[in-house]
Order: sequence, then C-alpha cells, then structure tokens
Amino acid sequence: MENKQPSVMDLLIETHAGLERQGPGSPEMTRKALGFLDHLDQISHAADLGCGSGGQTMVLAQHLTGAIIGLDLFPDFIHALNENAQKQNMEKQVKGVVGSMDELPFEKETFGLIWSEGAIDNIGFEKGLTHWHGFLQKNGYVVVSCPSWLTKERPAVIEKFWSDAGSGLDSIEHNVEVLQKCGYQFIASFTLPETCWTDNYFIPREAALKGLLKKYPGNKTVEAFVAENRDEVEQYVKYKQYYGYVFYIGKKI
Ligand code: SAH
Repeated sequence: MENKQPSVMDLLIETHAGLERQGPGSPEMTRKALGFLDHLDQISHAADLGCGSGGQTMVLAQHLTGAIIGLDLFPDFIHALNENAQKQNMEKQVKGVVGSMDELPFEKETFGLIWSEGAIDNIGFEKGLTHWHGFLQKNGYVVVSCPSWLTKERPAVIEKFWSDAGSGLDSIEHNVEVLQKCGYQFIASFTLPETCWTDNYFIPREAALKGLLKKYPGNKTVEAFVAENRDEVEQYVKYKQYYGYVFYIGKKI
C-alpha cells in the first residue's frame, strides 16, 4: 500500500476520510438551519446527500426522530459514517449508502427532508434541486449549503480561480431565484461564519496534508496536490469578503 502510486482521487479520499468534515460547516450551523424547519418530529425519512463521513448526519440524528439515509459516491466515507453510527448506537436510525446524488436510488416522494452540505455544486445547484424535488413529499424541505458570491462584483482573478476549479459560483439572489423556479417556496438563507472554513476545515485538512507529505516523501503528485490545497486557503484569505458558504432552505410546494 505504502509503495502504491496514489492518484489525485486517492489523495482526496485519503486526506478527507479521517476528518470530521469534508467541507466548511459546523454543528452550530447545521442546528441553525434545522431551526428554520417546522415539525421536525413529523419527518419520518430524511436523506443527507453527499454526506461524506457524516459529521452533519450525526448532528441531524440528534434532532430528528425519523430514519436518516446518508448517501455518498465514495465507499470509504460511507464506511466511516456507518462505523460512527454504530459507535454511537445510532445504526438503527442512520444508514449510509453508496450512490450518486444525480441518480438517487430511492422511491419517489420518500423524504420529508433532503439535506446536503457542501456537495450540490458537484452536480450543479439547479440540476440537484430539480432532481431531488421528485424524491420529496409535498411540503418536504430541502436544505443545502454551497459556496456563493456575497458581492455584486469581485476581482477577475477569484472568478477565474473558481471557474477553473470546475464550479463557477452564483450570487445568493440568483440561487434563491433558481430554488423558487425549481418548485420550492423560499424559506431562508444565511452565510456561514469564517470559522466554518478555517477552524473546522482548513486547519484539520492542513494537518492531514502534512501527514501525506510525510507518508509519500518526494512524490510529485502528492506535492502538487498539497500545493493546490494550500493555494485554495491562500485565495480564501485574500478574497473571503467576496464569497462564502451559504445555506439555502426551501419547502416543496
Ligand atoms: N457533507 C459533507 C461532505 C461535503 S464534501 C460535509 O459537509 O462535511 C462533498 C461530498 O460530496 C464528498 O463526500 C463527495 O464524495 C460527495 N460527492 C461528490 N459528488 C457526488 C455525487 N455525484 N454523488 C454523491 N456524492 C458526491
């Protein structure tokens, strides 16, 4: 295993599998978003899409009485979630499955709540909200967080950084309009504080990156991967007034 040449995807998984979260967020912000929903006790089935290793899934489980299915593309993350659920004696309520967010392996109108933190941009905000609409019951909630522009204008260099990364961001106003267009009533949106990026994501990730450099000394793929991750942090420090992670909460009409 130690001698195997890791691919960028291997490195992405190896860096993130041991972290509590795989993107910006916090238990407090998950709870804040939950606070906008009525009648949590009536939600019998919820899904957490792109759940990663399930940091937020376990927070949801503390506040919901119904069953929660976490779904992610990567078996390593789902394994971590299921192990965690078992450790916390929650394996009856929380179950992780491997699957893709853009082709959900569920019956239509199954869920009273579809949750997704920091993952929808992998398939696109509009595409995700459109696809997931069919899997929600009437009056069911959709709650997603994703990076968004916070200002009307911003330096071209940071726009280019995000579009090169494969996810051109949109403004909050635009995303709210899309949410409404996709058949949801707009309930609320709010921006995550900086600590959700720094303390809860970048700092633990940097520790994991240092571990990678030690494990694969002199490996060019690893060095390039680490440099790219560090560049993301540098961009954030320079340009964080222009973008942030934003929660969007909607209710299926
Ligand atoms: N919700 C977690 C993880 C966010 S990182 C958190 O906030 O900590 C984004 C996650 O989306 C990763 O775990 C990644 O594996 C997953 N993902 C990316 N594309 C996906 C897809 N098409 N279907 C399901 N999961 C996907």
